[in-house]
Amino acid sequence: MDTVIVLFNRDLRVHDHPALAAACADACRVVPLFVADSRMPAGHRASFLAECLADLRGSLRDRGGDLVVRQGDPVVETVRLACELPAQAVYVSADVGALAQRRERRLAEECRRHRMGLRTFPGVTVVPPDELRPSGGGDHYRVFTPYWRVWSGQRRREVLKPPDKVPVPEGLEGGPLPVAGHGPNGLFPGGETVARTRMRQWLKYCVEDYAAGHDDLAGNRTSRLSPYLRAGCLSPLELESLAVNGDDFVRQLCWRDFFHQVTRAFPRINRDDYRSRGQRWHDDEDAAQAWKEGRTGVPIVDAGMRQLLAEGWMHNRARMVTASFLVRRLRVDWRVGAGHFFDLLLDGEVPNNYGNWQWVAGTGNDTRPNRVVNPVRQARRFDPEGEYIRRYLPELDGVPTKLIYEPWRMPTRIRGYPAPLVPMD
Ligand code: FAD
Repeated sequence: MDTVIVLFNRDLRVHDHPALAAACADACRVVPLFVADSRMPAGHRASFLAECLADLRGSLRDRGGDLVVRQGDPVVETVRLACELPAQAVYVSADVGALAQRRERRLAEECRRHRMGLRTFPGVTVVPPDELRPSGGGDHYRVFTPYWRVWSGQRRREVLKPPDKVPVPEGLEGGPLPVAGHGPNGLFPGGETVARTRMRQWLKYCVEDYAAGHDDLAGNRTSRLSPYLRAGCLSPLELESLAVNGDDFVRQLCWRDFFHQVTRAFPRINRDDYRSRGQRWHDDEDAAQAWKEGRTGVPIVDAGMRQLLAEGWMHNRARMVTASFLVRRLRVDWRVGAGHFFDLLLDGEVPNNYGNWQWVAGTGNDTRPNRVVNPVRQARRFDPEGEYIRRYLPELDGVPTKLIYEPWRMPTRIRGYPAPLVPMD
């Protein structure tokens, strides 16, 4: 083939990128393309994306290539560029959300109409979401443990090296990149280069401690690689293949795959109950707003929500506690909380965010859908010194540790900190 377009989306890397590797093998000229559409993220998510794109462009230029950036509808812009070049085929990494599936179908239609080829490749998950089917029938696994068993024994494809050379057509104009603003505290600089450094450090120094430390709220003892996995700066397959001393960590990567295969089969996961149980939600905007601002009066919940506001990230244990508080105690619809998380999380992705929210709300894949998390007990157990709470709620600084989980038990009210929104005893 003469020219192939590689359409990047949630795969912003050059290492272990099956679509890019295949294009470089199949075609004389390769045109890497990213289309920024009107649904592009705002705020710190936008800065993260801009940094990822700048880094990707740098890596492609190091290989003699470039990244073409266009604005508009991804299908329209891809086909327009393909006609201009001209290109004979478009290569993409397959994705699972409703939007991604719709885009892929439209792209397939348009490519057919213009007599161009469209090939989809793996790369967003460790195991492609349509590869494992339950032996008893059905198009996906509904329960994690059987999926984990089969997933663990599955043969993996080969991890691919980055191409030595990306031969772009002469005179190709890359176009301006989106402008990077400031990320929250610079905690998560975007891009594959940073991601790979963090991955190597995590695997060398920390992964062995994961089983013991992953629930330590104050300790930052999880990988914090989720924003990079979400943007595809890291290949989940490569990460798994290198995590030889981290079974518990690899299990989390399997959870990610699990929710991807659920989403592929149930793309309306961000809107509809996966398993409706007829819950009636409480339409309480004030309570939802207090929750979003970290002003519920329950310290562990407020600390988690303020971590999200300040960092664009939240510890997994805090995500469970805050989500459970919203749906179980305030009885607010999971869609309200999930939408808020999705807008602010740097790792906000449809399968993991909505899959986990529905799990917590009891409408998803939890085999114990009535599970309720007690925020005070969780805080005592996973933040035993109250360090996490104090980090995000400076107004509780002077409260003794034994009362920091339940400041409503203090003999006097704490100035600047609210009473709990709902009775806590
Ligand atoms: P680690 O503990 O180091 O795990 C490594 C990787 O495994 C993570 O980066 C992530 O890709 C995957 N992973 C870990 N836990 C889970 C899980 N429970 N489900 C699926 N994948 C997992 N994760 C997201 O990536 N995006 C989201 O939008 C998201 N929303 C969530 C919402 C709620 C209500 C809850 C309870 C969890 C959510 N999670 C989400 C899962 C989990 O909290 C994060 O993946 C994790 O905290 C990211 O931190 P880490 O990279 O240090 O994870």
